[in-house]
Amino acid sequence: MTDALPPIVIPEQLKPSDGRFGCGPSKIRPEAVAALAEAGADYLGTSHRQPTVRGMVGRLREGVASLFTLPHGWEVVVGNGGSTVFWDAATFGLIETRSQHLVFGEFSSKFATAAERSPHLETPSVLEAPAGSAPEAVADPEIDLYALTHNETSTGVAPPVRRLTEDATGGLVAVDATSAAGGIHWDPLDVDVYYFSPQKCLASDGSMYIAACSPAAIERIESLTRSERWIPASLDLGVALDNSRKDQTYNTPALATVFLAVHQIEWLLDNGGMPFATGRTTESSTIIYSWAEATEWTTPFVSDPALRSPVVATVDLDHSIDATLVSKILRANGIVDTEAYRKLGRNQLRMGLFPAVEPADVASLTRCIEHVVERLGD
Ligand SMILES: *Cc1c(COP(=O)(O)O)cnc(C)c1O
Repeated sequence: MTDALPPIVIPEQLKPSDGRFGCGPSKIRPEAVAALAEAGADYLGTSHRQPTVRGMVGRLREGVASLFTLPHGWEVVVGNGGSTVFWDAATFGLIETRSQHLVFGEFSSKFATAAERSPHLETPSVLEAPAGSAPEAVADPEIDLYALTHNETSTGVAPPVRRLTEDATGGLVAVDATSAAGGIHWDPLDVDVYYFSPQKCLASDGSMYIAACSPAAIERIESLTRSERWIPASLDLGVALDNSRKDQTYNTPALATVFLAVHQIEWLLDNGGMPFATGRTTESSTIIYSWAEATEWTTPFVSDPALRSPVVATVDLDHSIDATLVSKILRANGIVDTEAYRKLGRNQLRMGLFPAVEPADVASLTRCIEHVVERLGD
């Protein structure tokens, strides 16, 4: 292959200490990987039905409960397959008849599609807003589950999550928090199910879902999974709940994923919990957005500052600069995964600013982007 990239070399002293700015899988702290290597033979390659691994699953569930200060009666359900599989599980075990979906990007649209295609559910209500903005939920007595997304990773829009006070019929509020959980504040009073995968803010690897469930959500799971409805066992949230209560998963989990997630949660907790985590993401995102506003050839893609995500920043570049080329040159210099979400089709950089990312590295990233852009015309 011929290398057509302009030979721009970023000086070492400008570079961040870690070049990973992806939106998932994203930076895993080297300390966590070292701890996993150290735990090595005592943990990896051992039975997930024995205390060594079950203890780690227990620490994961307790850590999630402490990090989010979950109220009494909430339970943390874990299962295999990540948030994508959780959507399918939710069509069986959380949506009773009809759901409402706020769709404003690629990820939020996928859960809506899963519900639309479920033969046992009524056609969902789908409220859409263009990429870069967010729709608002509308109270409707026919809706038994409102599907929200805390951070639309494809666009960098993070709307506040809140329960509709106008909703008198008690529809569950289910929040896809895959890229938000552990990086953006939320209040359990506004939510019934807060679900996510650990390869974003939790700086672990993928393949698992974690769902914090309110007593109302637990009640819904128990009633639907005991009903006549056919549910494949691997997608049965009742089965997942029973196993989670024993600090297990229905089938074999990825042990490294569990370990790394526990390491990250305990690191966050040891440093002050959510205020520490959101302090870091706020600092990082303030660096990016102020830079993007001050720089002549950059504009934050999300025009409403209140909707700008603290964990996924999307920055449009002036049309005279090829953003894809900038990302490629950054990549050749060891700064990876700054490409825009492929289907969004914008001349844009997208950067993951999860709590594991050092704010100082975000500042270095802006200087590296400038270094590349200033030399592109040469
Ligand atoms: C990454 C992501 C998903 C998909 O997560 P998987 O673990 O790959 O299933 C879903 N929703 C949002 C908001 C995401 O950012």
